[in-house]
Amino acid sequence: MEAIKAPRGTRDILGGESWKWARVMDVAASAADDFGFREVMLPIFEHTELFSRGIGDTTDVVEKEMYTFTDRGGRSVTLRPELTASVMRAYREHDMRRGPQPVKLWGRGPMFRYERPQKGRYRQFAQIDFETLGAPGPMADVEIIDLSMEIYRRLGLSNLQVVLNSVGCPKCRPVYREALKKYFASGFDSLCETCKSRFDRNPLRMLDCKNDECRKLTENAPAVTDSLCGECGAHFRAVTRGLENLGADIRLDNRLVRGLDYYTKTAYEILSGDLGAQNAVCGGGRYDNLAESIGGPSVPGVGFASGIERIVITMEAQGAYMGREPAPRVYVVTSGQGAENEALSLAHDLRSRGVSADLDFMGRSMKSQMKIASQAGAKFVCILGEDEISSGTVAVKNMSDGTQETSPRAAALEKLERIASRKEESK
Ligand code: ATP
Ligand code: MG
Repeated sequence: MEAIKAPRGTRDILGGESWKWARVMDVAASAADDFGFREVMLPIFEHTELFSRGIGDTTDVVEKEMYTFTDRGGRSVTLRPELTASVMRAYREHDMRRGPQPVKLWGRGPMFRYERPQKGRYRQFAQIDFETLGAPGPMADVEIIDLSMEIYRRLGLSNLQVVLNSVGCPKCRPVYREALKKYFASGFDSLCETCKSRFDRNPLRMLDCKNDECRKLTENAPAVTDSLCGECGAHFRAVTRGLENLGADIRLDNRLVRGLDYYTKTAYEILSGDLGAQNAVCGGGRYDNLAESIGGPSVPGVGFASGIERIVITMEAQGAYMGREPAPRVYVVTSGQGAENEALSLAHDLRSRGVSADLDFMGRSMKSQMKIASQAGAKFVCILGEDEISSGTVAVKNMSDGTQETSPRAAALEKLERIASRKEESK
């Protein structure tokens, strides 16, 4: 029988890498605290309509990328391709409108999209996602963009570019759509098949096409910022000024449209020069019409999502500090089978004092246990030979200078707690 492998587009994040992910999550969580965002944990699957209505049924995500299935009760459910629609659903379902506004929420976890897997693009990937709900003004947009940059700054990333645009609102977007259609009509025959189908259904997406011919044509396309209504124009200028005021280096790009229909006004991405083709580390913007499209009263919102895989790839490419691979501070070495209980009891007491400790279960010789201790990166080795056990002592070897000291068990534990505990480690 052929061995079963993980499905295409998924990845096993193993022990040699998971600690890097943990660091990204820790940094995101501490930035969330500093910016006043509370974490929410929402379902991995939702009713399909939440996404088909929320994200828009002419988008790539809804048309081609959703993992949708009928459950045993005959309901259509979808593995979440993103978090924004779920956060909005939760805001409404729990009537968060009643409390003080805005409500600032964040979440993390796996998302699912049926895409063509390649570097930085997977079928299951993880995101951190931040949303500010209930604030219509431009300063909420500035804060969200600032928060995304702050997370990357704390992670030590460089060579990033913030790209900003406005996609208007239901008042001014139709005007722009018509201007675009008029422009593209003359070159229609040279467009790719996807863009031909976008022409009527979603012409803004033509600006995002990666096809060379289409790209050439978009170069002289009318700019969305020339079609913005008074309110959207003022909002865009305020966001730009707010970011400049924070010293952010931003690039305005009229061709930036986001893949999801719910965006209004602000749209932005942060691009990494070290990611290759999938170069967006994060994408976000304002979505004042999402709430109505999933049914119910309007709620303004702005947010962003960032892919953890792409953050980790960028950090690795840039040699950024990724935290430390966990290693036991202490390794307990024993002679002989009879001493295993003693060794486990010593490890137990060390662990309960916040000292990470490991030991051998495989009955190896003391020599190979010493070798394993050193390979594992242990700072100290506790030796429990026959003499130590019979006298109730422990020999503690300091692996960095090779010195060794024998003391009563209680004294050795106390000392190790002082010099090798987690508290000490984080200093
Ligand atoms: P792209 O244009 O690269 O497909 P997108 O616009 O579809 O991105 P969003 O929906 O804005 O992406 O998601 C926000 C972020 O999530 C992206 O900037 C990226 O970091 C990450 N991301 C999106 N899709 C994937 C994927 N299939 N695999 C890994 N990361 C992803
Ligand atoms: Mg995509």
